[in-house]
Amino acid sequence: MINLIREPLIFEISSPGKSAVRLPELDVPEKKDLLSGVPLRDDIEGFPEVSETELTRHFVRLSQMNYCVDFGFYPLGSCTMKYNPKINEKVAAMPAFTMGHPLLPEDLVQGNLELMKFLEKLLLEITGMEAITLQPAAGAHGELTGMMLIRAYHTAQGNPRKYVLIPDSAHGTNPSSAHLCGYIVKEIKSNERGTVSVEDLEKEMTEEVAALMLTNPNTLGVFESDICQIADIVHAKGGFLYMDGANLNAMVGVARPGDMKVDVLHLNLHKTFSTPHGGGGPGSGPVAVKKILEPFLPVPVIEEKDGRFHLNYNRPLSIGRVKSFYGQFLVMLKALAYILTLGPQGLREVAEVAVLNSNYIRKSLEGIYHLKYETPTLHECVFSDKFQKEYGVSNLDISKRLLDYGLHPPTMSFPLIVHGALMIEPTETESKRDLDLFIEAMKAIAEEAREKPELLKTAPHVTYVRRLDEVQAARNPVLRWEKTS
Ligand SMILES: *Cc1c(COP(=O)(O)O)cnc(C)c1O
Repeated sequence: MINLIREPLIFEISSPGKSAVRLPELDVPEKKDLLSGVPLRDDIEGFPEVSETELTRHFVRLSQMNYCVDFGFYPLGSCTMKYNPKINEKVAAMPAFTMGHPLLPEDLVQGNLELMKFLEKLLLEITGMEAITLQPAAGAHGELTGMMLIRAYHTAQGNPRKYVLIPDSAHGTNPSSAHLCGYIVKEIKSNERGTVSVEDLEKEMTEEVAALMLTNPNTLGVFESDICQIADIVHAKGGFLYMDGANLNAMVGVARPGDMKVDVLHLNLHKTFSTPHGGGGPGSGPVAVKKILEPFLPVPVIEEKDGRFHLNYNRPLSIGRVKSFYGQFLVMLKALAYILTLGPQGLREVAEVAVLNSNYIRKSLEGIYHLKYETPTLHECVFSDKFQKEYGVSNLDISKRLLDYGLHPPTMSFPLIVHGALMIEPTETESKRDLDLFIEAMKAIAEEAREKPELLKTAPHVTYVRRLDEVQAARNPVLRWEKTS
């Protein structure tokens, strides 16, 4: 790795008069009054002045300080940080798409609407659901939208109900979404297999419960195999089964939530369907529902009639808009390109290889790292630092040491039901060679934990910045550079 010990800020390498461009001498008469009356700025105070070489090298060096999925393995559990084929970026970058203004009249965006409608159709086929909105901009946003649909339905029946049930193995955004929607969250305990306890659910499910929010596969990577029975229990009391489908990698092309009696489902196009994410977006979190909830979907809804596409705003029961314009159009395009390039067989392979890769890691590290739940997993597996704790080494130390091996650490300390968790999601895009590199690094680290724990506790040693004071960073973030001289 390049030694990047002190890359200065671009302001610090600036010197007056330098420029990355050199324009030719003017060969026409100068017309000074051309822009008269226009407020023009002839100087920006403190603007960095650097040569092209300095400019290029500065930004290339900065880009090398961070880890990215184009550089290596990124096993962040519940995040699906996978390699995304560049062809999808190419499609989304076509000027015909990027130049389309969202205020263009319906007649001029028939092609765009057709593509959105086509994506809707494909997602419904993939999920086995009956109606869909592409509007939400992220997974958590999809959850909120889904809960708003459920609330709107119950309200229309005369009582919005009070509670939402959420298993202790759910993704952390689930309780937040239910709470934001005005519901009181009740937790359902997991059993020894790491799945929802049906007995506990039966006790908690009453006619005051609006819905059960189920992450499936849950955050242990375990498939909720009782899902149909769970749905029956929820439905018997007039509630809805919400499924968090953010990690559809585990079942795309193999099994469909719609066939598992799920009523509402959100997807993360920026996980399963090929949009690079992290750093805050853009994402897309479509919400698919069964017919009974269709009247409540956000406006506008895209409708097709005689080969023409129309945006329908006239939907009296709709919860309204949840996002400006129509959602993240370019993310939808990437998803569409991804689905079409893979086809049904390719999508099935996504799930099969994602599950195979995760179980390969689980089996290879079993016995070296502690597994609280031994249930076979789907797309991710969750170890803990229990064995390494004996030598005073924590999951944080293990993660920091992985950076020295040139690998991104897994998700840490989540799910909460596994103390000292290391949650590993390899995704389907990793080769056996890359998986083996990771496994070897994890084995070497387990040995280091025994032999020289100090090495781990002071890691990382070869990165641009060493171990950060995370408490200080959270409590007193310094986000702005100020000129000192
Ligand atoms: C990532 C994820 C979410 C949240 O998605 P965002 O797009 O980050 O808001 C919700 N549930 C699960 C299971 C996830 O993995």
